[in-house]
Amino acid sequence: MAFVYPRYDFQPSPDQFAAKPQRHPVVVVGAGPVGLALAIDLASRGRATVLLDDDTGVSTGSRGLCYAKRTLEIFDRLGCASPMLAKGVTWQVGKVFHGPAQIYAFDLLPEGGHKFPAFVNLQQYWLEKFLVDRASALPDLDLRFASKAVSIVPHADRVEVGIETPQGAYAIEADWLVACDGARSPTRKMLGLDFKGRVFEDRFLIADVRMQAAFPT
Ligand SMILES: Cc1cc2nc3c(=O)[nH]c(=O)nc-3n(C[C@H](O)[C@H](O)[C@H](O)COP(=O)(O)OP(=O)(O)OC[C@H]3O[C@@H](n4cnc5c(N)ncnc54)[C@H](O)[C@@H]3O)c2cc1C
Repeated sequence: MAFVYPRYDFQPSPDQFAAKPQRHPVVVVGAGPVGLALAIDLASRGRATVLLDDDTGVSTGSRGLCYAKRTLEIFDRLGCASPMLAKGVTWQVGKVFHGPAQIYAFDLLPEGGHKFPAFVNLQQYWLEKFLVDRASALPDLDLRFASKAVSIVPHADRVEVGIETPQGAYAIEADWLVACDGARSPTRKMLGLDFKGRVFEDRFLIADVRMQAAFPT
């Protein structure tokens, strides 16, 4: 089944029309895989969480494509591993061919008795869709699309977050603010925080191919 990118319409929050900024225990900025997983984890434990994302959909094109057993175990705890396993391609043995000759093979899960496979290959947009489905089912998770964090003012006991939406701007307050807004994190920039890391020097060509084939996956 081809992926149809879901659109998540902007729904104004009652916070937008409140007389003063409403206070929340946790605000997570960024509904990518990390923000969604964190917000689901918190809300599943009864921690009311507001999750802001500046977009109205899941990520597009080729990004993450391979998820390991440990990650699947975490998604299982979060209540969303089943659709990922059902949709993805699971595997544990990798084979390298030179022409028709197999020149190398490796088994990533040689011993049995595991609940999850070594890996599942699944496009990131499917993964995010299943996370959004799970997030939307949790009463303690308030997922707000088309809601861009544009200002952050930390205080000793709270953080003020300015939010821009298609229907105007408003502010909320949080006991805790968590930046999950990706590698270029605007939240970190707004707070003047560094993001230490290393640049991978290799070059990759990533291509998306849709095909029907006579041979097995
Ligand atoms: C071309 C490409 C190929 C990749 N290939 C692979 C791969 O093969 N395997 C692999 O494991 N990983 C791959 N990755 C990396 C993978 O996509 C990231 O590691 C993953 O998306 C990180 O998740 P995240 O939740 O931290 O951030 P992101 O997925 O970047 O999510 C951040 C979210 O924050 C939102 N946001 C940003 N600013 C704001 C704001 N001010 N207010 C509200 N929301 C905001 C964004 O819209 C986004 O939804 C690839 C990435 C790219 C770009």
